[in-house]
Amino acid sequence: MSTAEPLRELIISSVMDRASRNGGFVTRADLSWVSLPTGDGRRVIDAARGIWNPRDMDATLSVVSSPTGPYADREVEGGLFHYSYREGSTNGDNLKLRRAYELGRPIILLRKVRDGVYVPYAPVFVVGDLLEKREFLLALDESVRFLSVDAPERRYAERLVKQRLHQAEFRGRVIAAYETRCAICRLRHGELLDAAHITPDREDDGLPAVSNGLSLCKIHHAAFDMNMLGISPAYVVHVDRQLLEEVDGPMLLHGLQEMHGTALTVPPRRGDRPDPARLERRFADFLTRAS
Ligand SMILES: [Zn+2]
Repeated sequence: MSTAEPLRELIISSVMDRASRNGGFVTRADLSWVSLPTGDGRRVIDAARGIWNPRDMDATLSVVSSPTGPYADREVEGGLFHYSYREGSTNGDNLKLRRAYELGRPIILLRKVRDGVYVPYAPVFVVGDLLEKREFLLALDESVRFLSVDAPERRYAERLVKQRLHQAEFRGRVIAAYETRCAICRLRHGELLDAAHITPDREDDGLPAVSNGLSLCKIHHAAFDMNMLGISPAYVVHVDRQLLEEVDGPMLLHGLQEMHGTALTVPPRRGDRPDPARLERRFADFLTRAS
């Protein structure tokens, strides 16, 4: 049964802290040496393989999953994540993941969202080992860990887990593309950054692609969603006229009014930059509603 393994818990919380500071993701470089509060550091990803079995630990520490498309649905069923056995034998690398199952050890699931960039989920528990299907079942959440296979809550859990994966991976992809920066004010605190949708995700073409996203701090995200500011297809920030005439404290002055007419900070890679056609539609909306 599960016995405490303080080092594992320390590593998991250090990885999650790192991800929070980055804005919801970790890089391969972060994972090759995660510093611990003890002053020590640990590798958290295998240099070549998708599973990391540290020699001095009794069970797997992390597994990598590379989604083939922007959606994770295929891998999620009944609120559980299906993780395929490693190629080759039923044992080999899989033995220590089976040990994580037997011992109830938490592991880290690393979803690769772009080259060298991962969204981590932890603590994740192995709750099933399907020998015939050659896959493990992972619970991304304590709440689904002990649900029986046919519990009606599974359907709700499935929706919640898919939603959680979509949101977390969209956020990780977008904020990584902007190198942990607000596109409007350049604030560099991942904890304060969101991935805003240009075409809202409730609309049919509200794809979770980076070119439909903007990395924005909480204030600028809310202001953008409320059409208090707009972004032109030429990547220029426009602040609502009425807001420009208001007189108030430093947040209004520096945080909003002074952003008027400034250029958006866009990702270095061209393909990651906001889609001008989407911005144009969204900007028309801002102009119509603007005072
Ligand atoms: Zn900002």
